Amino acid sequence: MTRLHLGCIADDFTGATDLANNLVRAGMRVVQTIGVPAETPTAEVDAVVIALKSRTIPASEAVAQSLAALTWLRRHGARQIYFKYCSTFDSTPAGNIGPVTEALLDALHDHPGGRFTIATPAFPDNGRTVFHGHLFVGDRLLSESGMQNHPLTPMRDPDLVRVLQAQSRGQVGLVDYRVVAQGPEAIRARFAALQAAGIRVAIVDAIDNEDLLRLGPALAGLPLVTGGSGIAIGLPANFGLAPSPAASALPAASGRRAIVAGSCSRATGRQVQAFVQAGGAAFRIDPFAIAKGERVVDAALAWYDRQTGSEPALVYSTAEPDSVARAQAQLGVAAAGTLIEGALARIAQGVVARGVRQLVVAGGETAGACVQALGVTQLQIGPQIDPGVPWCYARTGGEGGVYVHLALKSGNFGADDFFAKAFRMLS
Ligand code: ADP
Repeated sequence: MTRLHLGCIADDFTGATDLANNLVRAGMRVVQTIGVPAETPTAEVDAVVIALKSRTIPASEAVAQSLAALTWLRRHGARQIYFKYCSTFDSTPAGNIGPVTEALLDALHDHPGGRFTIATPAFPDNGRTVFHGHLFVGDRLLSESGMQNHPLTPMRDPDLVRVLQAQSRGQVGLVDYRVVAQGPEAIRARFAALQAAGIRVAIVDAIDNEDLLRLGPALAGLPLVTGGSGIAIGLPANFGLAPSPAASALPAASGRRAIVAGSCSRATGRQVQAFVQAGGAAFRIDPFAIAKGERVVDAALAWYDRQTGSEPALVYSTAEPDSVARAQAQLGVAAAGTLIEGALARIAQGVVARGVRQLVVAGGETAGACVQALGVTQLQIGPQIDPGVPWCYARTGGEGGVYVHLALKSGNFGADDFFAKAFRMLS
């Protein structure tokens, strides 16, 4: 592997994929790793995105994991570090965005420019914009967007300068939209003025992609940038890279096709329905049958063995909210989740053992469980299927590992015909 342009640290798995997808679209060849990699990526890449699970763990652990990721990325020559968090700035006064950002700055402070960084979760394509330092989701302030009720990171203050200041030791400032509108020179001048005033981290306004493209050149040479996945669109050009289909090229697909769906989100519900209505072969998993100890995994794989031809087959636990609530009431929320994720992960393993080389997984947690069961540790990122969901290419673990095309879909992502569209793209 040659020297990395960009080394990225993402605080969760689907967020990492979202960032990787944006970088690929802007012209970078990207590998995403699950945790800090044990080995060097085999593919030639411009950026590595290390997916951590550090969003809601204690701040000290998030710092330790992020610093370990930083060490690995610097060892591989990363010219710039990108700390990626959620575009709704998911955090609490205890962290983890502030503590991780400051720990990364401390570690980079010997570099020229390493005493200052930016923070902007703006992602206009997804309706996340920042104006006067206030974060909007669509046309609502963050604090009225539903995020005020998030079970782990309730966001009750839309003023990001205040939110980040509460979790930081150093001073937080703002580069407002009027400065951003003037372009890279003005933004850089503002950075210098803020640093001279003792500011360590600046929230940057951005209300559309043009703002992010003006911000991009101003970030050239900063050892650290932080934000959602939006600022990714302005960075590859700093390394002389332009959008190109070559960045997302994956080896040709072959083998059988399958879908494993464990998401009960509305979009997945519609996708399962569309697939079944179009005559697709589908097998439903019943949580109560698993809880009763019935051999559900064996039954699903026996059903799969009876499928012939090259049409994709779907195994799903996707259900309506009342049915999910019944399962959760009877089995417990966490137990129901773990039980079903475990069964679907073994089914994913089983179908790959039976020759599936093109696999779609619906559901963030479900995808995590499947990737772990398959022993996948690195994903080469390919073309986007729908916003936020690319095809990936990965080797399964252990002796006799095989190469598989994987699409890991966060529950609420994708159009209704996502499954058919995904396979069409590979043929
Ligand atoms: P999403 O991305 O839509 O949130 P996830 O896979 O992250 O999807 O989460 C869905 C959770 O719901 C998983 O833990 C899964 O095991 C669980 N689950 C799936 N089907 C059912 C069901 N029929 N009843 C109860 N829980 C379910």
